[in-house]
Amino acid sequence: MKKTLVLVLSLVLAMSLLMAASAEAGFTEYPIFEDEEVAFLHVNAVYFQAVPMAPGQENFEDYDIHLECDVAALENDLGYGVDDWVPYLTIDFEVIDEATSETAADGTFMVMSASDGPHYGANIKLPNAGTYTVKFTFHSPADNGYLIHSDSETGPGGLLEEYFGDGPLTLEYSGWDYVPLG
Ligand SMILES: [Zn+2]
Repeated sequence: MKKTLVLVLSLVLAMSLLMAASAEAGFTEYPIFEDEEVAFLHVNAVYFQAVPMAPGQENFEDYDIHLECDVAALENDLGYGVDDWVPYLTIDFEVIDEATSETAADGTFMVMSASDGPHYGANIKLPNAGTYTVKFTFHSPADNGYLIHSDSETGPGGLLEEYFGDGPLTLEYSGWDYVPLG
């Protein structure tokens, strides 16, 4: 009886230590690419387990991963703080299987915050291991109503149309060796 109690107590202790350790470590992000640059944008892409998002996107069981696009400002003349998140972007994504050239997943990212801050992301279905190309298309913040002061007295000096005058910016990364989670 006493031995059983000791065993149970040790198990409870071990479990709470494990839980404390995982809570401290948070979640594990897997990099897709790091430090890509397009115009005034510094872009990182990661993935991790599919997650519930509120409001309205709590149902995540049908998805394989959460794909995340982190966009921070480089040195710029648009008034964005360097290393700050760039809001008001619409970013389309496409994941292409390099073995077949078929689109494995595509869509438009949603805008959200996690414990590490605001970002663009989406839960996607990507069940098969493989080597993929990731394509991101960045639409001007002006398309979502974002304005830049255009007078010389109060403006930052640049205008969005200088970067998006020829249309959206694109970033393509090949050679993502994807391993499904769990
Ligand atoms: Zn997210």
